[in-house]
Amino acid sequence: MTPHARASRRLLLLSNSRDAEGRYLVHARDALAAHLLGVREAAFVPYAGVTVAWDAYTARVAAALAPLGVAVRGVHADADPAAAVRAADAVLVGGGNTFHLLRELQRTSVLAALRARAADGTPYVGWSAGSVVAGPTIRTTNDMPIVEPPGGLGALGLVGFQLNAHFTDAHPPGFQGETRRERLAEFVAANPGVGVVGLPEGSWLHADGARVTVEGAHSAVLFGGTDVQGAVDAATEVPPGQPLPEWLEGAGIP
Ligand code: ASP
Repeated sequence: MTPHARASRRLLLLSNSRDAEGRYLVHARDALAAHLLGVREAAFVPYAGVTVAWDAYTARVAAALAPLGVAVRGVHADADPAAAVRAADAVLVGGGNTFHLLRELQRTSVLAALRARAADGTPYVGWSAGSVVAGPTIRTTNDMPIVEPPGGLGALGLVGFQLNAHFTDAHPPGFQGETRRERLAEFVAANPGVGVVGLPEGSWLHADGARVTVEGAHSAVLFGGTDVQGAVDAATEVPPGQPLPEWLEGAGIP
């Protein structure tokens, strides 16, 4: 990420789309309204959807944003999806399977178009997989690699740290698999110096230029990275309303 892109970016990165009652994009509606103020039409990227038709997915998002006065157009319906992104007032990237999303972003060249638009200060909204791809890579997704993006796991790099959506450390009795903390600790061990932000349900990150603030219901949980004093290996929490520490973006996968 160039210093210009970092200073210009306007990102809203939601952990999830549905609230506990199953309502779609309602929990963050005020933040969405503020972020999309003045936007008449947004380009929606439905490529993370695997078992949902992209038209139906787009219609669901359009219904959720209609009360804000924002019209939504699926980029898949355009003969040139990357051009649709380049022409948009705002871009929205929905959740689903992160590997599928990244493969389609690569295939359509929407990946490069999104990166360029976000660097210009075009409002970007992501949720779940759409937030994970804002990081340097998708290596901290929770998803199964149901497809293999031929261009590798590198993503948009709109922030200098990795994201883990739907962060939870729940551990059902008798479950012998790794907890989320254990999985992210493995990432940090294998990628020294790269920070990870675990975003619980109901929380999101708001980047307005260089500053990235935690918002919503719960604290973000940080893993890895280094600060000026040296290595930070213990998980730290950042409560809603507080900025992420600067060391998180001091490192990152180039
Ligand atoms: N599958 C998630 C989503 O809803 C992404 C993730 O959990 O990493 O997009």
